[in-house]
Amino acid sequence: MNRPLVIGNWKMNLDYVEAVHLVQQLGVVLQNKPLEHVDVVVVPPFVDLRSVTSVVESERISLEVGAQHASAHDAGAHTGEVSVSMLQRLNVQWVLVGHSERRAMYAMTDDVVAHTLRAVVRAGLQAVLCVGEELSVREAGTPREFVTAQLHAALAGVEEKSRPLITIAYEPVWAIGTGLTASSEQVRDMTEHIRTVAASLSLENTRVLYGGSVNADNAAALLSEGRVDGFLVGGASLKADSFLAIAQAANDCYDGKR
Ligand code: PEP
Repeated sequence: MNRPLVIGNWKMNLDYVEAVHLVQQLGVVLQNKPLEHVDVVVVPPFVDLRSVTSVVESERISLEVGAQHASAHDAGAHTGEVSVSMLQRLNVQWVLVGHSERRAMYAMTDDVVAHTLRAVVRAGLQAVLCVGEELSVREAGTPREFVTAQLHAALAGVEEKSRPLITIAYEPVWAIGTGLTASSEQVRDMTEHIRTVAASLSLENTRVLYGGSVNADNAAALLSEGRVDGFLVGGASLKADSFLAIAQAANDCYDGKR
């Protein structure tokens, strides 16, 4: 199995003071009880990034930092956008690409997702491609077809050298922020399907995460029965104890207990 990855997406929560406080709390716990078998990433709002990367570096906290979005463009007249090179300059290592909230609320089409993904990996940053179906698609019985189309649109033709920089997060839209978690069977079925499609696009051994109302109580079962390589966590990443409990579950599963 792949080394697990647990990512906390803070969305539009926590100003820079609150962000520093949370990352320091995470640092204290991680220093006392290091998680050797899991990669942990926090994804704050843009305006918090400089403060968070500074604290992570100066206090040598074993966390990496990501951004929630990036522009597909290099520079220029794109008011409100942030370029990949600006993120790089802040020592940001990860970028979420095509989160369902960006797709649904900010007109991020499959085409924009594909261009953004290319901009991120071209710069050598790690991209987390988010895919997942809405409830109507699941009820219509076509979630696999829907996710296949999203994967093809984003990944077809990605250069060979960029492929190791890609992680895929399966996030059924109906499970995000709703308290409804996909069952382990649904997660296993879709993540197996995603691995097959990714392999057909020459992405072998890509990490496949699950996201959608993950919490400390359901994480272990989703890992072992859902066979995911980790999680993209929203709500439960806003508190140090709940986020680290999820990371601990991933750590323990990898450490021979899965
Ligand atoms: C997310 O925002 O990617 C997410 C999975 O949120 P939540 O964990 O709150 O459902």
